[in-house]
Amino acid sequence: MPTVPHAVCVAALIPVAWTAAEPLVLQNRALRLEFRSDPLALTAVRNRLTGEVYTVEGDQFAIELGSGTIEQAYARRASLSADRTSVRARYEADGVRIDLSYTLGPANHFVEKRLALTFTRDDTLRQVTVSRPAFAAPGLELVRYRYPQFGRVPGAEPCSTFFGRTGRGSLFAGLAMPFDRSTGGGNAIELAYLPSVKVSAGQTVPCEAMYLGVCARSEADTRPLPPPIRCSPSDPGAPVELREAEPGIVPLASESAAMVAMTESWLGPPRHGFVPMACGWHSEMQQGPYASDEDVEADMRSLEFLADCGIDWFSESHPWGGETERMNALGPDDHYTPGPRARRLLEHARDLGMGAVMWSSMTNTHHWSPLGRPFRADQPDWLLTPGPVSRAISIIASAKGNCVANRPFFEWLSRINREGFSTGLYRGWAMDGSFFGDGGWYSSIVPVDCMSATHDHLPGDANWASQNALDRLFADVRAQRPDTLIFTCRPAQDLGVFSLRNVDVCFTLLETGTGASNLQAGDEIRRWSRYRVHHHFVPHYIDQPLLFPSRADRTTPLVWSSEHLDYILLSAISSSPNLLFYMPTKSGIPDRDKATIRRWLDWARAQEELLKVRRDLPEWPEPDRVDGSAHIVGDRGLVFLFNPGDQPREAEFALTEEGTGWRKRGRCRISQAHPAGGPRQVARHGDTVRWVVPPASAVVLTVAAER
Ligand SMILES: [Zn+2]
Repeated sequence: MPTVPHAVCVAALIPVAWTAAEPLVLQNRALRLEFRSDPLALTAVRNRLTGEVYTVEGDQFAIELGSGTIEQAYARRASLSADRTSVRARYEADGVRIDLSYTLGPANHFVEKRLALTFTRDDTLRQVTVSRPAFAAPGLELVRYRYPQFGRVPGAEPCSTFFGRTGRGSLFAGLAMPFDRSTGGGNAIELAYLPSVKVSAGQTVPCEAMYLGVCARSEADTRPLPPPIRCSPSDPGAPVELREAEPGIVPLASESAAMVAMTESWLGPPRHGFVPMACGWHSEMQQGPYASDEDVEADMRSLEFLADCGIDWFSESHPWGGETERMNALGPDDHYTPGPRARRLLEHARDLGMGAVMWSSMTNTHHWSPLGRPFRADQPDWLLTPGPVSRAISIIASAKGNCVANRPFFEWLSRINREGFSTGLYRGWAMDGSFFGDGGWYSSIVPVDCMSATHDHLPGDANWASQNALDRLFADVRAQRPDTLIFTCRPAQDLGVFSLRNVDVCFTLLETGTGASNLQAGDEIRRWSRYRVHHHFVPHYIDQPLLFPSRADRTTPLVWSSEHLDYILLSAISSSPNLLFYMPTKSGIPDRDKATIRRWLDWARAQEELLKVRRDLPEWPEPDRVDGSAHIVGDRGLVFLFNPGDQPREAEFALTEEGTGWRKRGRCRISQAHPAGGPRQVARHGDTVRWVVPPASAVVLTVAAER
């Protein structure tokens, strides 16, 4: 495309709100962004929520190819165009075309900067630097926050967000991906990552997005968030509290809320309603192949147990229907469909009205069984060729797996998945496992290396290519059946929120099952869900609080308590519309407990539109506090209150947008729905409501505007 003189270009292509004069501007109620046009770059950010202005220098890209490095300043700008929400430029350089865009949605408090590279010859793509911004504003302090906090190596957390704090608000920026190579110092950051892939002529590679947003200080900032809890997935026994990731670097409440608002916008609203799901593996169902009809009939009884409890989803109890040896033997032209016994169970689930979730795996046919093998023994070239990191993990975990960053294998695996799903027996699809072939306990700690010279990645660094392949696998399932419930465990659950594109529900942090006391378990569920939201920026509706002790090992004595079932169930229901149950489906529980569970799940189903939103009250779960959450939609809502202590305590919450999400002016009625028969109040918008919560109990209030 020929170079268009700047004045002509802007006058011809920029409509309505634009003028030919510099600076170019994108703006909405939260942000005003000023750009220089050549080279196209952001030069100023006005936080319209506070009135503060950050000037920006150095917002330019650099692309490192095998054939040389392309700096934006030396690339030829071929075009410039814009509309109300975006500004775009095309650059041409030797061997590659670069499409650059900035997008500011009308209601968004963040801008996205994206690059797409189209290659005109075969090459290698080694590093993408999306931007190198240096910010200046009075009193600016820039900090780096790393998350999620897993593993034993501080500083190895997969994701980074940079917060630039000024007197009245913050700016936040980062790359929307795990394991990037961004750096920061002083008031400057470099947002970069290492694709480390081969590219071919004609191929377009969309690059990872940069986000840059703003927020204003809020009343909630006067209460610092608790320091991050470090939990270690390499200790499958339990999440472990170790230490702060980096002392003092914790998001402010306003920053956290702004990040979650961005990830909600980015990931989209909930696609499903209330989804109570049982995990077959942890619920005394078959973990290996069905050896007899009696085996599968026993699991059919397990499904009936779950249906009696009102649980209407289950994730398969073993990968690929338990047919591990069949998966090991699949050849190039074989097709996959569940065998007769696996199918019998799935048909029974359908007859019971239950949604079944297909349990797929990625690099090994069964990551947790000695029967598990890499797929396709006839294709040794498809194996991950361990570098130092993968070798260490293979030694620790006796693991071996395929390399997913290898197009022929990826395409074969995608076909096998599509064939399983096209049976129509599944309403959900799950991924679990690891890039390394092990059970997945290391994926959050170290990036993937593979030394193969024949895969998509360059020999050595297979990390981004592996992440990208997993992303495409999710996208494939979404494209095949848009209404599928996509459920992910590892590795995405450890990689963080930017690995959850197309995901409806993500395995929770507290994955080992809850303990014997339903009271303590309820507090843990609410606390861990808050970490997931406030520290890791995962929308609450994608988290999946987990209830009751694991029954994966059926030889251990049954731990079941009928005490405080209301408390644990309401803790989970208040945290997310997605729940995961570990149930003793074969050992059994008292009928009255089944009835209690069913009653609450039926109640929650009727409230699902309210459960899709959540505003946490300020206190965190502590023995001497009342915590809770508000769920307001329009002129009605719910408020959950929890008192873990042994004395009655008064809760208070504000009927305001910031306090509970309540916007409706005028009077409203507040009634106690649980326990039934409690007091009532009439309040007005702006009032602070006080409510006494008995010891060791949960209270549910309904709020409704007076008509
Ligand atoms: Zn590889």
